[in-house]
Parts: sequence; structure tokens; C-alpha cells
Amino acid sequence: MGRTLVICKPDSVERGLVGEIVTRIERKGLRIAAAELRTIERPLAERHYEEHRDKPFFEALVSFITRAPALLLVVEGPEDTWRIVRTLMGPTDPSTAPPGTIRGDLATETTENLIHGSDGPESAEREIALFFPGLR
Ligand code: ATP
Ligand code: MG
Repeated sequence: MGRTLVICKPDSVERGLVGEIVTRIERKGLRIAAAELRTIERPLAERHYEEHRDKPFFEALVSFITRAPALLLVVEGPEDTWRIVRTLMGPTDPSTAPPGTIRGDLATETTENLIHGSDGPESAEREIALFFPGLR
């Protein structure tokens, strides 16, 4: 069994696309193990995205992810669940994300790209512990 962290980012909540995104995850055969609608605090957002701290887009990214409520999810399934979710999401830039993916079908901009998914097993473990410290 594997788990990954998914964030339906503030744009997906604002646009009413959370149901669509959760439906795609569930129809794929994955399970929601935990969920919380929450406005992410800045220090937590900065830790979550700490690999990007020195990038020019860091401030815009943190401002965006903290501007309004996001739906935090722990998604569960096979060992490589993180990879299955990344495939459903599509690449970072929605303008090159293929049709059939969440970003390819539903988004146009790199910042407002609707969804976060952990990019590997270690990231998944780290991020689940950050957002759901009490989860067993
Ligand atoms: P996420 O971590 O949000 O799931 P990702 O793993 O596809 O996205 P990362 O490289 O981790 O992409 O970048 C994190 C986020 O930073 C992206 O989702 C995007 O919003 C933003 N970002 C990444 N690269 C750029 C860029 N070149 N210009 C502007 N924003 C960017
Ligand atoms: Mg990433």
C-alpha cells in the first residue's frame, strides 16, 4: 500500500472543481484516506515548498497557495500511488499538459494549476507528516 499528499489548490476550490478532481482520483481506483478544507498558513506553505525557496517564482507560489482555502487530501492505493496521481495531474505547465489530464483539461496557467501531488515516496511521507501530523 502507498499514500501520497494531494492539494486541491485554492483555484480549484474557487472554480468549483474539487468534485471533478476527487472524482477522477476515485474513478481511477484510489481511496481518500484523509481530507481537510483549510487555508494553509504561510510558514507551513514555505516548508512544504522549501525545495523552491531560491526560485524566482517562490513568493508568487506561496502567496497563491495561502490566499484561500485548499482541500488537503491523503490518497491511498498501490505502492506507487504518488506516481499514479502525478499521471492524472499532468505536467506542471497546463499549456503543455495533454488532454485527459487534470491540468491539461482544466487549467491554463503554471501558477494556477489546480493540484499538487507529491513527487516521490520520500516527498509523500514528508508532506503527509507536515499536513496530517496525527494521521496513523
Ligand atoms: P506541485 O509541487 O505544486 O505539485 P509540480 O511538482 O508539478 O507542482 P514543481 O516544480 O514542484 O511542480 O513546482 C511547484 C509549483 O511552482 C508549480 O505547481 C507551479 O505552480 C510553480 N512553478 C513551477 N515552475 C514555475 C515556473 N517556471 N514559473 C512559475 N511558477 C512555477
Ligand atoms: Mg512539486
